[in-house]
Amino acid sequence: MSDAVNRGRHVLVFCASSGSCAPAFHAAAAALGRSIARSGDTVVYGGGAVGSMGALADAALAEGGRVVGIIPRFMREREWAHTGISELRLVEDMQQRKREMLKVADAIVTLPGGSGTFEELFEALTSKRLGLFRHPIVILNQGGFYDPLFTLLKSSVDERFMSEAHLEMWQSVDHVDHVLPAIANAAPWPDDALRFATR
Ligand code: AMP
Repeated sequence: MSDAVNRGRHVLVFCASSGSCAPAFHAAAAALGRSIARSGDTVVYGGGAVGSMGALADAALAEGGRVVGIIPRFMREREWAHTGISELRLVEDMQQRKREMLKVADAIVTLPGGSGTFEELFEALTSKRLGLFRHPIVILNQGGFYDPLFTLLKSSVDERFMSEAHLEMWQSVDHVDHVLPAIANAAPWPDDALRFATR
C-alpha cells in the first residue's frame, strides 16, 4: 500500500451513478468531496466517473485531495471507471467490492441514490449490527430524501425485529456541511455489538 493511501482517514462514500437526478444532489456530492479533501482525508468510493460519484471525485481531486476508487472489472470494461483518480482498485465482483470498501473505511457517508447506494448502506448497517464494522455511518438526508427509510427502520424497531440500540448505528444530517462534524462526534459503537444483535 502506498503512503498516500494512508493519508488521513479513509472516508467511504456511497452515492448515485445517475446523471439525471436534480443537480442539487451532484452539488452536495461535490461539496462533500471538497470538504473531505480539505480535511486531509482520502475519499474512497465506487470508482465511477458519472453522476454524484463523478462529482464527488472531481471536486476532491480539484481540491488536491486523494481519491481511491474500488470497482469491479466488468464495470471498467464498460468504461464506467473514472480515469483520473489517484488509485483505481479492480475487484472481481460487487461482493468483493463491498468487502474491500468496508475493510479500508474509517467512516461511511451515504448520499441520496438508487438501489446500488441502498445495497451498500444496508451491507454497512448489517455489518455494524453484527459488530464486524464499528465506524461511524452518516446519512445525508438531503431534502428529506431518506425520511421513508428512517420510517421503515423505526417500524422494524417498533415490531421488535431490531432494538432501540440499533437506531444508534447511523447519524442523519440534513446538510452536507454537517457530515464531517457528525463523523467526529459519533459515539463509539460497542465492541460487543454481537451480544445485542438479535432480540
Ligand atoms: P445507484 O445508487 O443505484 O446509482 O448505485 C450506485 C452504485 O451502483 C455504485 O456504487 C456501483 O455499485 C454501481 N454503479 C452503477 N452504475 C455505475 C457506473 N456507471 N459507474 C460505477 N458504478 C456504478
